[in-house]
Order: sequence, then structure tokens, then C-alpha cells
Amino acid sequence: MLQALARNSAREMPALRYLALGFIYLAVYVVLDWLSFVDPLGAFGVTPWNPTTGASIALVLAFGRAFIPWLFIAPLLADGLLRHFPLPIHTEIGVVVTLGGTYTAATWLLTRAGAEFSRGLQSKRDLIWLLGTAAVAALVAATGCVLLLALTSIIGIEQITRGILEWWVGDMIGITVMTPFLLILLSGRRIFPPTPELALPFVLMLGSLVLIFGSADSNRSQLFYLLFLPVIWIAVRFGLEAVTGALVTAQVLLIIAIQLSAHSDLSITALQILMLVLALTGLIVGMLVTEQRNTQRELWLYREALARVSRVGTLGALTAAIAHEINQPLAAIGNYARVGRQALKREPFDHAAVARTTEQIIEQVDRAASVIHWLREFIGSGASRPEVVSVNELIRRPESACRADLDEHGIRLETLISRDLPSVMVDRLQIEQVITNIVKNAAEAIAGVGAGDGLIQIEADMEGDKFIVISIIDNGPGFEPILLERPISPFTTTKTEGMGLGLSLSRSIIESHGGRMTLGGNGAGARVSFTLPAARTLPSGAII
Ligand code: ADP
Repeated sequence: MLQALARNSAREMPALRYLALGFIYLAVYVVLDWLSFVDPLGAFGVTPWNPTTGASIALVLAFGRAFIPWLFIAPLLADGLLRHFPLPIHTEIGVVVTLGGTYTAATWLLTRAGAEFSRGLQSKRDLIWLLGTAAVAALVAATGCVLLLALTSIIGIEQITRGILEWWVGDMIGITVMTPFLLILLSGRRIFPPTPELALPFVLMLGSLVLIFGSADSNRSQLFYLLFLPVIWIAVRFGLEAVTGALVTAQVLLIIAIQLSAHSDLSITALQILMLVLALTGLIVGMLVTEQRNTQRELWLYREALARVSRVGTLGALTAAIAHEINQPLAAIGNYARVGRQALKREPFDHAAVARTTEQIIEQVDRAASVIHWLREFIGSGASRPEVVSVNELIRRPESACRADLDEHGIRLETLISRDLPSVMVDRLQIEQVITNIVKNAAEAIAGVGAGDGLIQIEADMEGDKFIVISIIDNGPGFEPILLERPISPFTTTKTEGMGLGLSLSRSIIESHGGRMTLGGNGAGARVSFTLPAARTLPSGAII
């Protein structure tokens, strides 16, 4: 319920809720005051830790400035109920006004518009603001109240310094230990993660306290450092939330231990100063750990976002790839159709030529359809359909797909396939696509420089005893040096109409077959080579 109220605090709070919360605060205040009224310096209540101050600050920070009046009511009520107003009424009012006024100023500063502080305690900055403001406010409150007590002769002049120190330490511990804990609790975050590992540091904490209070007075402050171990353990392993819980536990256990053991007054203040150092160290380490975790999480989210962006990017590349692959048969169809139209116009009517170009058009339309089919399958499952094909067969279809282009520019195509070459185990359509891409590129390169006598050679040979290497060599201008210097990457093109996808798509197809693709040659022409796994042959010569 308190958490729900905390979340609602920004909006107008209904009167009933406001009162309910106010009374809950008063009850908590009185109980905490009663529990912590240990070892007071005089009947007026300078105690070694004041969790009430921490609760008051948390109340205003979590629920808003509307609760400031309650900061004045609570100490008056507690003094009346628990101690029957030990001070003369004007001093009592003076103390309450000093305390309430100082902490009102502190919370006002932290909650002002544009403040650097956020009550969710999400960053080092929030913690530093809270603790810094608390330190100054506690000093002002301690000095004001102790001077007031001295002025009204309730304490002696010689007690002023000690009084201020004890009051300051008590309030500081109250704020350092209680406020972050309550703020985290009220923001709905979990204090302790459900893990058995947590039991170990708490056992260690108990053990340390037994050791500290089991030893002689003079050794106490030295052994106190043992408490750092469990607190730092919790801070490092579980972050800020858990360390606030650990500090409240440590403080409560410490007070119980002080109560149970025989002690001198001085040792309590000394122990409380050590406790303050412990609390500050724990909170800072916890905050650093939590911040680091948040950064890691942010980084993870950022990486995820980047992966999503790159997936969208891949989709874009895929769309471009489809356009590229379909463009080739479409261009071939256009060329054949034009040749057919010429043949129709010719006198006498060349029946055979029209029949031939129509056949070629049909072949290209089928090809476009199968490319789409393959792309759909490839995108859908990423699967390919390997079959045993001879290199001669692999070259036949690309040759006919590029024929019109080659003829148009008077380019010769020669094939040099070594004898007894085993077949390859490939997805036929994909490799035909690769060869078509490369031959088309070569034809475009030769046509681009307008040189006659263009020649493209397709060579195929064994590479080692497991691979077949196919090279497409042309006598065009060759690759630009920059393209040879870096790996084949998509969208690299030197053509105004180019998409820069043919080579990279070909490379991924070859690599998905377990082969490798390399570019070579320079001014004297280009060479694109790729390897493909040979289909295994039995000694009898049968292919498996
Ligand atoms: P695109 O053909 O759309 O430009 P590619 O990936 O097929 O995309 O080719 C990328 C670049 O490689 C081309 O722009 C061209 O500069 C170069 N290239 C490809 N093949 C050859 C070749 N045979 N001769 C010279 N340069 C070539």
C-alpha cells in the first residue's frame, strides 16, 4: 500500500490517504524512537543512532513536501509519549523547531524543481546529493539543538562538543542507514535477491559481532573492521538494494549487541563513527556495482537494438538482391524480344529465328520464375538443394543467358575444362546464377571500354583432390585496385546503374557450398575464381 501511495505522490493525494500515511509515519516514528532510545546522553535523548531522522527524510522525499508539517508533530509526540516531555516546554519547542526546520530545508533543497537529486536513487549523483545534504543538515541540527540545550543550562558547556558530535553521528547514521533503505523499499524494488548465497555474509556478520563484543573494550574498534567483509561482499555481489538491507541489519544487530554487552560511553560513539564509515563505504560500493550493472544492461539493450537494425539492413540487402537477380533474366527477355521483333519485320519472314528467340524468351521466363522460387526457399529456410552436376552442364545455361549480351558486343566465350574432371555437388541453380553474374560482369567490363576483340574464358580444373576451381577470365580493364585490396563486400560498385551485389551474393553462395571465391588480375583483365567441392567418386567411376 505504501508503495502505491509513493507512486501516487506526484498527483494530488486524497485527504484520507494523506492522513492515513501521516498516522502510519507517526506510529513508525514513535516505535523507532522507542527502539533506538539506547544509551542517551542525558534524559533529553542524544542517542547513538536516530533512525527517526532517516524515516522523516524518506517520508518527505517519497511522498512530497505536503508531509513537512508531520516532521514537527512526530518528535513532539514521541517525546511526550515515551519520555513525558523531559525538557522545559520552551526548550522542547525550540529543539523540535530546530530539528523540523533544518530537515525541512534539507528536503526542500532535494525536492526543488530542477534538483539534481532523484528519489529513486538510481545514480551516484543521487546518493552524493542525499548524503551531502544530510551531513550539512545533521551538523546544523546537532549544533542548533545542543547549543539550545547549553543555553538553557540543560547540559554543561563542557558537554557541547561531545554533544554535537554524538548528535551529528546519530542523525547521520539514521539517515545513511534508513533513508536509502526506505526509498528503495517504497519505490517497489526488491531489497534482497532470493539466493542462498546471502546467508553466508549474514552468518559472517553475526560471527563478527560476536567476536567484536566478546573481546576486551580496547580491541573493539580494531575488530570492527571485520564487519566490512560481509557488507562489501553483499555490495559487490548484489548491489545497492541489498547493501541497504545489510546496513539496516548490521545497525540493528550492533545496537542489540551494545545493549547486551558491558561497555563505556566512549566506545559507543567510536563504534558508531566506524558504523558510519561502514555505511558510507557499503553504499558507495553498492551504488558503483548497481551503476555498472545498469550500464551493462544498457549496453546489452543497445546491442540488441543494433542487431535488430542490422536484421532490417539484411532485409534491405535481400530486397536489393531479389531486384538484382530478377533484373538479369528480364534484361535477357527484353533483348530476345527485340531480336524477335527484328526477325518478324524481316522480309522474307524468318520463321526459324522467331521460333528460336521465342524459345530463349521462354527459357528466361522460366529462369526468372525459378530464381524467385529459389529466393523464396532460401529466405524461408536458408536451405539449398545440392545435386551432382558436371561442370559442362553448369556452364551451359549461363552461356545461353548471356549470349545476347556477348553477341551484341562481339565478345567471344571460350571454355577450357580439363578432362576427367569429376562432377560437383552443388545447388545447380545457385551456381548457375554465380557464373551468370560473373560472365555478365566481364561482358559489361569489356563493353565499358569499348575494345573490340573481347574474350571471356571459363576454365575449370582440380584444386587438390577435393575441390574443383572454376575461373572466369576476361581481357577487359580488370578490377579497380581498391576492389582487390579489401574483401568482397555488398554495395560496392563502380557502375552508375550498379547495385554492387552480384559479387557479394556470389561469394556467399560459394561459401555456403564450402568453397572460396577470389578476385584477381589487374590492367590486363580480370579473373574471378571460385572453388566447389568435388562429388566423391567410387573407384569404379560411379558418382555418389
Ligand atoms: P555491380 O555489377 O552491380 O556493380 P558486382 O558486385 O557484380 O556489382 O561488382 C562490383 C564491382 O566489381 C563492379 O562495379 C566493378 O567495378 C567490379 N567488377 C566486377 N567484375 C569485373 C570485371 N570482370 N572486370 C572489372 N571490374 C569488375
